[in-house]
Amino acid sequence: MGCLEGKVAIITGAARGQGAAAARLFVAEGARVVIGDVLDDLGKELAESLGAAAIYRHLDVSSEDDWKAVVDEAVETLGGVDVLVNNAGILRFAALPDMPLEDYMRIVNVNQVGTFLGMRAVAKPMMAAGKGSIVNISSVEGLAGMPYLTAYTSTKFAIRGMSKVAALELGPNGIRVNSVHPGMIETDMVKDAAGGHDIDLSPAAKRIPLRRMGTSEDIAEVVLFLASDRSAYVTGAELAADGGATATHAFYMV
Ligand code: NAD
Repeated sequence: MGCLEGKVAIITGAARGQGAAAARLFVAEGARVVIGDVLDDLGKELAESLGAAAIYRHLDVSSEDDWKAVVDEAVETLGGVDVLVNNAGILRFAALPDMPLEDYMRIVNVNQVGTFLGMRAVAKPMMAAGKGSIVNISSVEGLAGMPYLTAYTSTKFAIRGMSKVAALELGPNGIRVNSVHPGMIETDMVKDAAGGHDIDLSPAAKRIPLRRMGTSEDIAEVVLFLASDRSAYVTGAELAADGGATATHAFYMV
């Protein structure tokens, strides 16, 4: 029996990358999964490939209306929401003096407000059920700063912080909330942020203890652990899955 047998999960930003890997693993472990994203064609394609256990819904995480529609549907037709993975995120590189407010706010609205809206949308149904697990995808940029990522870093620190507040408030209702801090993961996120150009990140990856970039599947396993009852006594925790990148500081020389 899979470790998510009988559970209903909503995963945001799940049309591709780490969210898609989590959706595949969750279905393999017995969950019914709502794949939410703004990339409708890719999302539908993934849901179809996963069969009856997965559905795709357009879910712009910065939209209150979209959250209401998806959570209402999950409660009414799937029987509730056991797991929420707030995975959707965007990244932009810009030097601090050159970052337009509009770009800054766009990143805040998706990464930070999106995570808040997601937790708020599922809190009441999970409280009514007396159980639930929320997994918020932060980043190593939620643990330490990175040049040219003012907006992204601020949102990822915010996610780490609000996960702890939610863990404190919702714990008495049987709801666990944890944050995951992936390191450098092989997805299209960095390429998109670089205007579609491939960026060779291997030199940076060679400097970390495990000497490689992470895969979406590496992160999906961590998310699965936190989503499932195997982590029944884990809440308010931050779990780095970064090949050891944040185990040191800038003085370390390879
Ligand atoms: P990705 O770009 O492949 O996936 C992000 C997904 O979020 C995409 O499918 C995108 O369409 C979706 N998305 C963007 N805006 C959205 C919105 N408004 N509403 C709903 N969905 C939206 O990148 P990924 O690496 O799979 O990223 C997943 C998460 O992991 C993100 O939160 C990211 O910040 C985080 N992360 C990534 C890395 C990395 O190196 N790739 C490292 C640390 C953390």
